[in-house]
Amino acid sequence: MPKTSLVLFDIDGTLLHSGGCGRAATRLAVQDVFGTVGTLDDVSFAGKTDWQILLEALAPAGIAAGEIEKRLAEYNQVVARHLTQIIGGCPVRPCVGALGLVAALRADSAVLLGLVTGNMAGLAPIKLRAAGFDPADFPIGAFGSEGWNRAMLPPLALARANAFNGADFAPSRVVIIGDTPGDITCAHSIGARTLAVATGPFSADELAAHQPDSLFATLEDTGAVLRAILNGQRDT
Ligand SMILES: [Mg+2]
Repeated sequence: MPKTSLVLFDIDGTLLHSGGCGRAATRLAVQDVFGTVGTLDDVSFAGKTDWQILLEALAPAGIAAGEIEKRLAEYNQVVARHLTQIIGGCPVRPCVGALGLVAALRADSAVLLGLVTGNMAGLAPIKLRAAGFDPADFPIGAFGSEGWNRAMLPPLALARANAFNGADFAPSRVVIIGDTPGDITCAHSIGARTLAVATGPFSADELAAHQPDSLFATLEDTGAVLRAILNGQRDT
């Protein structure tokens, strides 16, 4: 039986806190691959794709967008290697309620889980494992190496989910869960619903201004979050 609901998770600030190791691994890898970190230390990562972060940090150092694009595959390998080396020393932890929510969704045979994350593809499984998640619970995804704007990612994730499922998900049965305005606005590219959670750098009030379909301080109340994800789809 094909699944009928698609739930797409952001990673940082939504499923887990990486304890600074994402930024640290990025800094090491950018220096290795591009010979400079540019203005990386001044760039906010929240809601952005890793490709976008590279463009912002390296343009002031005179590194052209085309050069960055050519080296993305190499960068993905190098940053994953650095993260693997340092993650054991970082206080990685799941966000409040995230493990319980994923377990509850995984137990629902109508739900397919996936990722829409700004992380390079190589980083996602490393961070997920370190925080206690099984990357195999998220069989499809779109990653920060695949778009310089977050809005480019949901169409990729949806196409992959439809192919994986063998049937198309209705946009009204797709929910994107994230902790930044970028997670909310990127959902517009596929007409998906949005659930915002204020466990990242943005307050509930700041997220509310971007009009998510639902908004939670944390994912702790599994029952209430599940209802917001699934009940809103019942009549569609
Ligand atoms: Mg995030």
